[in-house]
Amino acid sequence: MRTYTELSPSPRTIMTPGPVEVDPRVLRALSYPILGQFDPEFTSYMNDTMEMLRSVFQTNNKWAFPVDGTSRSGLEAVLASLIEPGDKVLVPIYGRFGHLLHELAERCGAEVTTIHAEWGSVFDQDEVISAIERAKPDLVAIVHGETSTGRVQPLDRIGPACREAGVLLVVDAVATIGGIPVKTDEWRIDAVIGGTQKCLSVPSGMAPITFNERAESKILSRKRVERGIRPPGYEEPDGLGARIQSNYLDLAQLMDYWSPARLNHHTEMTSMLYGLREGLRIVLQEGLEARFERHRLNESALVAGLEAMGLPLYGDPDCKMAVVTCVTIPEGVDGESVRSMLLDQFGIEIASSFGPLKGKIWRIGTMGYSCSRKNVLHLLGAFEAVLLRHGAKVNAGAGLQAALDVYESK
Ligand SMILES: *Cc1c(COP(=O)(O)O)cnc(C)c1O
Repeated sequence: MRTYTELSPSPRTIMTPGPVEVDPRVLRALSYPILGQFDPEFTSYMNDTMEMLRSVFQTNNKWAFPVDGTSRSGLEAVLASLIEPGDKVLVPIYGRFGHLLHELAERCGAEVTTIHAEWGSVFDQDEVISAIERAKPDLVAIVHGETSTGRVQPLDRIGPACREAGVLLVVDAVATIGGIPVKTDEWRIDAVIGGTQKCLSVPSGMAPITFNERAESKILSRKRVERGIRPPGYEEPDGLGARIQSNYLDLAQLMDYWSPARLNHHTEMTSMLYGLREGLRIVLQEGLEARFERHRLNESALVAGLEAMGLPLYGDPDCKMAVVTCVTIPEGVDGESVRSMLLDQFGIEIASSFGPLKGKIWRIGTMGYSCSRKNVLHLLGAFEAVLLRHGAKVNAGAGLQAALDVYESK
């Protein structure tokens, strides 16, 4: 009989845009005993999680809870619950995840209009606002931090413009939540989807979301109670909108589950909820402002180091995302070979990119627990050595000195 070795994953330095390293406190939380999903002790943990999510999303929304599944499940739950077949949806696209929103909206039966900004840049908010005036959509879906290109889209004027036009605004903040400010209420966003395995530093497997009353009323207008749990004599109200196509990702049902009704839907992911609760507790203990500042500081040191080495950064610097730094792969250097050597010799993982940027850039994440001085300095030293080994021209010795200058001036 074949035997298998004991599971023993190597400790890595993960400098990708996710999944990133996880605080040992979160790993410990994942190992605690299982509670039943309706055990009052467990439902109190669910309520704590909702409360902490409201703080992280900077919102007073009643609804803030995780969807069980990776971040994509949160995107799909929100879009499937808010878009009825035939609805008009506008998707501004400036990278891979904008294309994902387009695809998801299409699968919901929307009539989708897209506008495009060149990869490596973002939209001037006025361009989006005039597209809203032209297309008159029911809903706008846009990415806040586009990890494929390392850019961040300002939203502070798009939100109020949507509100004024009576359009629902859905934002993919999967990569930004917990790393840079996501001001749900101030920016007038109707529904926001966050991610766990990026700046929150919790393993992949849940998608925290929040939405306001505008989104709620659209969802409730489509609400059905699942056949097997209807009370005796239940009659479906007249005049409902189109039934939400997904059962698993039906926010109307999830709302019943996450409210005092605790109406059974799926079995909540006990261990993941412990992990998320602990991860959020760590975020709030650090404090949002201090956490954003830590991300900015490590970004500055990383960027100073890369520039001092003489490496060209990719993309428009005015809209650079603090938590992802993209480096143009120098001519004649095999990007994948550099990544392999970083992993094999130094235990460091960085990312490549997708689509038109495949083979063109490396992406270095500074997210959550991975976003530390130790990791930035370790990466810069290793990167220099590996690049020299690959015959690239770098200013040997300059990178670490520049990064140390940034840290020491703080
Ligand atoms: C990572 C990411 C996703 C997808 O997240 P999964 O957890 O892999 O489903 C979606 N949008 C953005 C902007 C991301 O960075």
